[in-house]
Amino acid sequence: MVDLDKIVSLCKRRGFIYPGSDIYGGFSGFWDYGPLGLALKNNVKNIWWRMFVDGREDMYGIDAAIIMNPRAWEASGHVSGFADPMEGGNMFNTMFKTSVGAGDESTVSYLRPETAGGIFVNFKNIVDSFHPKLPFGIAQIGKAFRNEIAPRDFIFRAREFEQMEIEYFVRPDAWKDVFESWRESVHAFNAAVGIPQSSVHELEVLDEDRAHYSKRTIDFEFDFPFGRKELYGLAYRTDFDLRAHAESSSVDLSYRDEQSGETFIPHVIEPSFGVDRTILALLASVYTEDELGSEPRTYLKFNKAVAPIKAAVFPLLKNKPELVAKARSVYEMLKKVEPRIMWDDNGNIGKRYRRQDEIGTPVCITVDFGTLEDDTVTARDRDSGQQERVTVSELHKNLL
Ligand code: ATP
Repeated sequence: MVDLDKIVSLCKRRGFIYPGSDIYGGFSGFWDYGPLGLALKNNVKNIWWRMFVDGREDMYGIDAAIIMNPRAWEASGHVSGFADPMEGGNMFNTMFKTSVGAGDESTVSYLRPETAGGIFVNFKNIVDSFHPKLPFGIAQIGKAFRNEIAPRDFIFRAREFEQMEIEYFVRPDAWKDVFESWRESVHAFNAAVGIPQSSVHELEVLDEDRAHYSKRTIDFEFDFPFGRKELYGLAYRTDFDLRAHAESSSVDLSYRDEQSGETFIPHVIEPSFGVDRTILALLASVYTEDELGSEPRTYLKFNKAVAPIKAAVFPLLKNKPELVAKARSVYEMLKKVEPRIMWDDNGNIGKRYRRQDEIGTPVCITVDFGTLEDDTVTARDRDSGQQERVTVSELHKNLL
């Protein structure tokens, strides 16, 4: 398993992830994503959204406010119970408090510690707007904040992070099969982003360790460089949340089955994915050191779907105007097909390859003197280092 320090240093050096407020010495638990980390993160979130929201008929996406009416956090149990033990055994509530409004009129509220809260308070809105039939789900991707007592292990335990969460509502008697299918979906998502199944382990959370309202919880653990730790969670939460919000808000959150006429509070299965833990698991999975042409190298073995840069285009020499002009035209043509193409004419070809390897670019395309004669270029594969001649008009296929 790769050393965490190597990942942290590559991330900073190559523009994936920087310490938050870096010039002030950082700020514990906060991280800034640079251009490549942002591209990687967007790819991961888009794969998730397409797989679980846009690609399905039974899912509704929302983007709720980060700061909610504090009564919602009282109802959910977070105000009284979202706490970790401090040294000495005292409990510390890890929700970030903030005050909303001015002076005496201000109200204490919280930055959401999870995105799920915004989903439950919108259950009725979605039902009223869309009249979905059970089972159906509501999904949200967004920031969450926890005043972690001991942030550590890079982006694994941060104070500001991102979650991708689903509340999937079912008839009370239908949860078991749905739970199983979400269990499979978690693995399908890992496969799509390139986290190998062999590094992911399901941990059935035992009765005594489960939240009192949950009848079944599985933690998906990953073999991180610092040990086997939670990557995602999957929980059957019964009707606990909707019931608590219904009681506290005095709004009826029950669901009426049109066909049978029955009225009941739906039960819910909650798959919860951390974006940053996905990124870290992915980086740890793809980080590779080998020897190519008897020289050591480091590369990120991203699949094409998540790679932040899909291809790089180079002129063989940067002081030959005819090569540069041809390479620019190839670059511009490809950029219309796939915007995430990089131009590089710095240093020699070997150095450019190594730089692209380090950021996980699957293919490098070099325009040379042969190109001017027969309109072919060299396409060099990241993993094998092998090169082949490809006709310019066929090049877009290398991007797929
Ligand atoms: P842990 O036990 O590691 O603190 P948790 O059980 O409190 O995690 P959940 O409340 O289940 O975590 O949150 C759902 C998901 O959100 C986690 O599986 C993880 O991917 C992500 N997550 C939670 N806390 C953090 C954090 N501090 N930094 C980054 N991601 C987090």
